[in-house]
Amino acid sequence: VAKRLSGKTIVITGASSGIGRSTAFEFARTAPDNLRLILTARRLDALEELTVKIREAVGRGVKVLPVKLDVSNPEEVRAFVPGLPEEWRDINVLVNNAGLVKGVAQAPSIAEEDINIMFHTNVTGLINMTQAVLPIFKARPDGGAGDIINIGSIAGREPYVGGSIYCATKAAVRSFTDSLRRELVATRIRVMEVDPGQVETEFSVVRFYGDKSKADAVYAGCEPLTPDDIAEVVVFVAGRRENVVIADTLIFPSHQA
Ligand code: NDP
Repeated sequence: VAKRLSGKTIVITGASSGIGRSTAFEFARTAPDNLRLILTARRLDALEELTVKIREAVGRGVKVLPVKLDVSNPEEVRAFVPGLPEEWRDINVLVNNAGLVKGVAQAPSIAEEDINIMFHTNVTGLINMTQAVLPIFKARPDGGAGDIINIGSIAGREPYVGGSIYCATKAAVRSFTDSLRRELVATRIRVMEVDPGQVETEFSVVRFYGDKSKADAVYAGCEPLTPDDIAEVVVFVAGRRENVVIADTLIFPSHQA
């Protein structure tokens, strides 16, 4: 796997915490020589801190570039690739991980602002990031090459009461991923989706607008997955032989089935 990933340039959105952060570490640990990791999120300070931690953990064989990027802002996304130093633009893998849920409420009472944030981040942001890297992938021989790994959710398959907007965004991710894979059939551009179940991250703190006690209550009496459990799968699918497409993976803790 280290050999297959060696020399690749990997972009991770939402790398400042949770699954994205763990995925950055997992790529760095798996291929510690000659990898370029572009870590993006809105919180640049957290990305810079992570950059230092990765270097401390695996050494300087992995090159790390922290980039402030709000995926819900189309102008920022358009400026992302052209704004990279030239030697960082030959992107091979995009992990579309940035995402959030705002509020737990039944559809009639969900604030318009929260609806927009969820759709602009989870759906439009993911699509715009994909469009930003596809020209790079398509310019490669034989129809193109590269990996798009979208982080969906079990919520895109099994809707729950109080989550209608979030579930709808993740169902949209699922549908987009599936369509794009079909569009790119017979190229070496792999479009894959990893759907987590319950994972303990900052996700629930964001969901409850920063209320830590409500967020912690979500995990009472159950054992959620860790972000590393998801990161290992993301790196596994990216590390397969290029003819192997692990199109769709659902991972959840045993209590959730
Ligand atoms: P976290 O809240 O820990 O991480 C979310 C990440 O997304 C942060 O790094 C945040 O960074 C980033 N982010 C949010 N909005 C934006 C934006 N507009 N632009 C760029 N980055 C953004 O949660 P998770 O790690 O759990 O979530 C990661 C993904 O996993 C999400 O897509 C989520 O839907 C999915 N997921 C999570 C589950 C769970 O139980 N935790 C279950 C199923 C799916 P910053 O604030 O610095 O921008």
